[in-house]
Amino acid sequence: MEKYLKIIYDAYYGYAQYLLNEMLYPSWKNYFWWLIGLSLLVWTLEILFPWRKRGGILRKDFWMDTFYMFFNYFLFSLIAYNAISMVAVEAFNDFLGLFGVTNLVALEIGSWPQWAQFLTLFLVADFIQWNVHRLLHRSPLLWEFHKVHHSVEEMGFAAHLRFHWMETILYKTAQYVPLAMIGFGLEDFFILHMFTTAIGHLNHANIRLTYGPFKYILNNPIMHTWHHAKTLPEGSHGVNYGITLSLWDYLFGTAYIPHEGRDEPLGFPGMEHFPTKLWDQLRYIPTRTKTPSDTSAPPRKAALTPFTPAKGPEKL
Ligand SMILES: [Zn+2]
Ligand SMILES: [Zn+2]
Repeated sequence: MEKYLKIIYDAYYGYAQYLLNEMLYPSWKNYFWWLIGLSLLVWTLEILFPWRKRGGILRKDFWMDTFYMFFNYFLFSLIAYNAISMVAVEAFNDFLGLFGVTNLVALEIGSWPQWAQFLTLFLVADFIQWNVHRLLHRSPLLWEFHKVHHSVEEMGFAAHLRFHWMETILYKTAQYVPLAMIGFGLEDFFILHMFTTAIGHLNHANIRLTYGPFKYILNNPIMHTWHHAKTLPEGSHGVNYGITLSLWDYLFGTAYIPHEGRDEPLGFPGMEHFPTKLWDQLRYIPTRTKTPSDTSAPPRKAALTPFTPAKGPEKL
């Protein structure tokens, strides 16, 4: 027990130190300042080349989403996630130790060329995220949490990071074992992390970007607008689940872009009853799941392939 208390103390102390250092000492490998720089860049593009013409440079919920950006990128880790995850990892390792398992690494890719490591990590992580995102739409309970992200009514870069803190726990937990099996965590790859952040910002930005033929590989604002559309194709739980890559949606038949959708209403049916204030969303814990008729999650379209959650390495 003492071991775990020490882990919790070290986690808080270590993360607070890390965050303070990030804020006080800008450098080329600094998440805090890169997030600010990227955000300012995409915001400038939105102001100079707006896709949807709206008066003013501030859209609805701009400041709330700006807070969400820092909350989900840094503050939630400081408040809870870092300590919880360190304890969970230690407990998980102790549990494995009961069965004599001391090393999870099944495929040592550390000796591969750098680009191959990048690509493997990127593809594995993005595919897991695509599956988690799909699960967030299919499970009535998880959909209640995911509604926070879908409560966005006007797109803008910062909407990227408006999501319930439970999603951080779900995404990171789902990725932990498969990534541990190939010998490293996401934190090892700063450039990759910044690349996915930039694509995420652009997906939600008020800019008309298509990437030409690369749209079949990379997610983009037009495709992601349809993910946020209030009206879904009949019988579907959702479309365009891609995070950074659009590839999985094309491969598994969930891509849907009937037209550019610039003025498509965003949100979900019944959103007028969903909390709109930041504090209410942060402390929103669904106690009951709604009936399928008011979750916009009617029976699945036959054309969609059956979903298999990524339970473990054998699925990858
Ligand atoms: Zn979604
Ligand atoms: Zn989104």
